[in-house]
Amino acid sequence: MVERFKPIRFSRAGVRGLKVSATLAINDRVQDMWSAGQNVYHLAFGESRFPVHPKVAAALRAHVQKRSYLPALGIPELRRAIAEYHQTKFDLDVTPEQVVVGPGAKSLIFASLLALGEEVIIPQPSWVSYAPQAHLLAKPATFVPTRPEANFELELDVLETRMQESRQNWGNPEVFIVNSPKNPTGTMMHPEKVEALAGFARENELMVLSDEVYSLMTFGGVPHISIAHFYPEGTIVFGGLSKNLPLGGWRFGTAILPPGTGGRALAHAIGNIASNIWTCVTAPVQYAALVAYSGDPEVEEYIDLCARMHSIRTRFLFQTMVHLGIPCVEPAGAFYLFPSFQKWKEPLAARGVHTDDDLALHLLERYEIATLPGSAFHSAQELCLRISSSYIDAATDERADALLVAFREDPDPERFVQHHHPRLLKVAERFGEFIKDLERESGESGRRPDLAVI
Ligand code: GLU
Repeated sequence: MVERFKPIRFSRAGVRGLKVSATLAINDRVQDMWSAGQNVYHLAFGESRFPVHPKVAAALRAHVQKRSYLPALGIPELRRAIAEYHQTKFDLDVTPEQVVVGPGAKSLIFASLLALGEEVIIPQPSWVSYAPQAHLLAKPATFVPTRPEANFELELDVLETRMQESRQNWGNPEVFIVNSPKNPTGTMMHPEKVEALAGFARENELMVLSDEVYSLMTFGGVPHISIAHFYPEGTIVFGGLSKNLPLGGWRFGTAILPPGTGGRALAHAIGNIASNIWTCVTAPVQYAALVAYSGDPEVEEYIDLCARMHSIRTRFLFQTMVHLGIPCVEPAGAFYLFPSFQKWKEPLAARGVHTDDDLALHLLERYEIATLPGSAFHSAQELCLRISSSYIDAATDERADALLVAFREDPDPERFVQHHHPRLLKVAERFGEFIKDLERESGESGRRPDLAVI
């Protein structure tokens, strides 16, 4: 018998079938486990943990008395600063009217999905919340699988096929989400692929929502080029301060809308949505963001420094995967890896691990490693996990602060890991134990037929 809570009756549109954000859920779970005194190696959440830059912190403090409601799209001087920043940093021609700020890129993506089109095209795998946002808006989603052999990049023939299939089924794919550097794989789209995708989107009159929140965190030699560079009239670029500056909890995101009359109409629509839902971004945060987007050399140097620290930690985890023979596409940005454990399918099955959900749980329970299953990212591959390097050895503010001090003193990557990342080293060992166990067991299961013959 299903329990009912009179007079609380849930809305079908709101909660039916909606899943909790897997990233936030696992983070809460790990925090609870830590509070209960349990040891967990936290590789499950993507949050930059480094300190707030002193100049940004001072700006927030200085504006604590700013308490009035502000314009829904953002204060004009901030929209101006963000437009200039995009011009200098990403070579994008942006006017202040094209800039919208919101409480996190997440809210702005949702507002854009609310304002635009019908069916949403979503790559597989992709970040946990795109599909639930479409679901919340009762918009159908067309998933487009990507392959590790193709660097998890969108392949135009596959995209075209999926769109045709959808149209044959009365679908109307109009909005297309892209994300590079990519969560959950850490891979990046190569510039020529970005250009080809832009051409495809233009030809098919698709509206592109380009999540570029990791654009200042690249390390693999692939330059970040926004799709807006090639297709400005049909692209919204999302960014924010949660990744490049470690301000996830401040909830600050940006959207760069297309130029021209279409973009102005969209700004109007998003402004109407914002004014009816969140009113404006927290006032002191907007003033602090002015410093973040000022181009101040010290802040820029800090963004770069944080990106380098993330890259060393991420690359160490990648090298660990390579060393242990765990198939994993090389990351080029963000702080994620997407390894596959498919080759140990049999010994895993013998342990009762059949899906990536089972695998993530197994690693947590048996090896104290928290990860997220690929299924949380709508993965088309089996037995994949998303691993994030961002939390390990930086779980407390004190530890994260100490990492920064150590890196400023000695930026040598090898020594940075060996001398200041005891838990990262430990987690590499744990993965080693896990793989050794599986190899031994697969040897054993490999011998089983002989035993059967005997
Ligand atoms: N984007 C981060 C992650 O994938 C966490 C924040 C979020 O999902 O809202 O872990």
